[in-house]
Amino acid sequence: MFNTDTITRFSQSETPFYYYDLNVLRQTLSACREASSKYGFHVHYAMKANFNPRVLDTIQSFGFGADCVSGNEVKAAIEHGFDNNKVVFAGVGKSDKEINAALDADIFCFNVESVQELEVIDDLAAAKGKVANVAIRINPNVDAHTHHYITTGLDENKFGINTWQLNDVATALRTLKNIQFVGIHFHVGSQITDLEVYKSLCLRINEMQDWFEEHGFKVKVLNTGGGLGVDYYNPDTNTIGDFESYFKVFKDFLNVKPGQEVHFELGRVLVAQSAALISSVLYVKNGQKKNFLVLDAGMTELMRPMLYQAYHAIENLSRRDNAQAPGTKYDVVGPICESTDCFRKDVELPVSQRGDLIAIRTAGAYGEVMASGYNLRDRILSVYSEH
Ligand SMILES: *Cc1c(COP(=O)(O)O)cnc(C)c1O
Repeated sequence: MFNTDTITRFSQSETPFYYYDLNVLRQTLSACREASSKYGFHVHYAMKANFNPRVLDTIQSFGFGADCVSGNEVKAAIEHGFDNNKVVFAGVGKSDKEINAALDADIFCFNVESVQELEVIDDLAAAKGKVANVAIRINPNVDAHTHHYITTGLDENKFGINTWQLNDVATALRTLKNIQFVGIHFHVGSQITDLEVYKSLCLRINEMQDWFEEHGFKVKVLNTGGGLGVDYYNPDTNTIGDFESYFKVFKDFLNVKPGQEVHFELGRVLVAQSAALISSVLYVKNGQKKNFLVLDAGMTELMRPMLYQAYHAIENLSRRDNAQAPGTKYDVVGPICESTDCFRKDVELPVSQRGDLIAIRTAGAYGEVMASGYNLRDRILSVYSEH
């Protein structure tokens, strides 16, 4: 489905670049919208996964909301036409400047992570004569069974309010006049492929909404967060996420009351398969123990392998015709002056040469957005499947 043929059109272009297949993106968004709307669920796109302008415009055109984690993301969401009533602002460390900007933009809601933050938002809203909607991010202590660097919902993580602090939250919500409680928010982690995790989350959300209702608060919004994973091993055969099964878990296990809205904040699963990082082989180093392919892309263009030990499928686009011929194993590395600058070790590939075009697949999420200027590298380019 991901159209690698079109990439070769760009083989004369300067590498490295991110190649976006907008058709894959649209098909993914369409599948998500169909599966969620069946149950009346609302999806906010977690913009931190990819804020490339073309990607944002495409996602906005499908009617999704935006889940932002910085003041600049809130600003970008509004600029790209996301409805301010569908913009939420999450994050454990919102600065006063960011909160003020979000208040000025009249966003739907702040997902709040501490009692102190409630007090600050209340103060800043009061100064503007406004009342800010808030949802309380609760740490559900549910294990996401994912890489520990991307687990967020355990008591030991920095995120959210732990259940033993809820009485203080309730007191703050009752006394502070410039905030309005609208609901509860959760996010247990990323790249979650075991749907049982979401079942546990649902049961926890049910308990938590009962707690709030028993304490006299009307819970209008249940925000379940994001985290649905993608198949990094089989990008061609498993391109579109299994949205049907995902939303069905919530339909089956979440206790949704009349008038309540259920919100989701999906990032990775909406964008990951729609892009590849395209790079050229600069040098082939044949050693005694190891062979290296030295690419012109490195951790400055795609950091996930180095940051999370993440797996990405790697293909030699220039040798696809003899992909079945006996190949060899390479450590595929970047040019950056760090030993950790390695995409993967012992990658089975056709015998490769200087100038070959290499695709690192499933790079649409947490790829381009994490690019850095380390080593004073050029800014990463983006190329699209269509104009
Ligand atoms: C990162 C994040 C998401 C999206 O996570 P994905 O794994 O990309 O779906 C959703 N909600 C919050 C609060 C986040 O921080």
